Amino acid sequence: MSAALPGLIDTHCHFDVDDFDADRAEVAARALAAGVDTIVIPGYVAEHWPRLFQVCDSIAAPRLLPAPGLHPCYIARHEPSHLTELEHLLQTRRDIIAIGEIGLDYFLPELKTPELKEKQDFFFREQLRLAMHYHKPVVLHVRKAHAEVIAILRELKFREGGIVHAWSGGIEEARQYVKLGFRLGIGGSLTYDQSKRLRAVVCEMPMEALVLETDAPDMIPLCHRVPGAGRTRNSPEYLPAVVHALSELKGVTVEQVVHDMRQQSCLALRLPENIASLT
Ligand SMILES: [Zn+2]
Repeated sequence: MSAALPGLIDTHCHFDVDDFDADRAEVAARALAAGVDTIVIPGYVAEHWPRLFQVCDSIAAPRLLPAPGLHPCYIARHEPSHLTELEHLLQTRRDIIAIGEIGLDYFLPELKTPELKEKQDFFFREQLRLAMHYHKPVVLHVRKAHAEVIAILRELKFREGGIVHAWSGGIEEARQYVKLGFRLGIGGSLTYDQSKRLRAVVCEMPMEALVLETDAPDMIPLCHRVPGAGRTRNSPEYLPAVVHALSELKGVTVEQVVHDMRQQSCLALRLPENIASLT
């Protein structure tokens, strides 16, 4: 394990899912020791929002920040009443940092039927409207639907910004999101051999356009994969691997990456503190 990099913010980690039930406190302690002092936990279905808040309330450090929302991949499970529930949460939980993860997913064929496309569109727009009303940034999940998402953000004149999580799009799309006030979430896939296009886009974009994320328990960095073990759980404690990959790619020091990524995360999520580390 490399030296700790104090000041890291994991802008996307599903730390509430049951993959972490057995050892969540230990993982949190190791993440903190690795330098991660803040973790954003996005939601995906209304049923699990209580668990999300319970996890956020149960661990003091790293600071866990809830970003509840209705994920497009779970579109079949969303009900209009969940939007009312989300609005109630926005009115009562002051620690809600963003609405997430929301967006459009046209990658999975089962989500692309005309009815489900329409339903995705409805829930995405309604959640953007809530974000606008309560002045919250959003965490976007977008697959094979960048043109549609960009068009909706423009149509609604969405100005709250946020993060396009697990960035995998092209350079033109990246520039359009940045123009709309978004940053691109960069994670473990930066370390994968096949991620040539991602590295090219990240190389091209300024540091001001990027934030770090693990998307744990998914997207494990290459160096933490256990050969032959099948799926290995990703963890917020592995965020330094992404820092090292970004430092190498950009030709800047790891300290500079930590500094810049903290600054951009604070701007994207409107965290009130300055860029100084909390640890
Ligand atoms: Zn996610």
